[in-house]
Amino acid sequence: MRRKIIAGNWKMNNDLKETQNLITKLASGLSGEAINCDVIVCPPFTSLSEAYSLIKDTKIKLGAQNMHFESSGAYTGEISAEMLKSVGCEYVILGHSERRSIFGETDQTINKKLKKALDSGLKPIFCVGELLEERESGIMEKVIQRQIIEGLNDISVAEMGKIIIAYEPVWAIGTGKTASPEQAQEVHQFIRNLIKGKYDESVAANVIIQYGGSVKPDNAKDLLSRKDIDGALVGGACLKADSFIGIITAV
Ligand code: PEP
Repeated sequence: MRRKIIAGNWKMNNDLKETQNLITKLASGLSGEAINCDVIVCPPFTSLSEAYSLIKDTKIKLGAQNMHFESSGAYTGEISAEMLKSVGCEYVILGHSERRSIFGETDQTINKKLKKALDSGLKPIFCVGELLEERESGIMEKVIQRQIIEGLNDISVAEMGKIIIAYEPVWAIGTGKTASPEQAQEVHQFIRNLIKGKYDESVAANVIIQYGGSVKPDNAKDLLSRKDIDGALVGGACLKADSFIGIITAV
């Protein structure tokens, strides 16, 4: 039985004070709830250390939104896996569509980052997803297959046990347009079959595949009740404690 995981991607939002407010509300709101899933928050780099100090005795876990594939050196503006570990991160989002489209990340750089994260003991949340024009022109499956196969190049069966996949149709991110539960389930099943083909039945049965794209408290239950949808990667709705808690308690 796969345990669901709800992760909040804060993106470039919340300074230190706002981080303290949001985490404090989240932690107190969740303390009285029976939670049937794992909860991860992914604040910006500048808030990680503070967030960790506020969540370390709670059920909430910490993730980052990106990292470099080298450990150290002349990479101005970058952050390494080791640095993330040192401030309490357990997870890191890799290959988010905004990293791919705005910052030019390729399947190859994402693959290097996945390997580095795994070598450093971080659990990656590996994002894949198609653009609207790719879906409409009938190449969605080809695009997702390429992202999965090239992104997971040379990743072993044992390492796959530590990777969470997030299916995020790019047209549904931050747009208010959610994939219908049927559309999402169809792609999640397709991804699980790709994992079965690349690895085996057991790896496919165990891999967590989150859905991301305008998940809100009112659509979470329907999405999360589908057979192959194992949680959510949440953007906008994780910036308010009430709506993030609404999604968590929908599980
Ligand atoms: C995201 O950025 O990963 C995301 C899913 O954003 P939103 O929930 O705002 O669509």
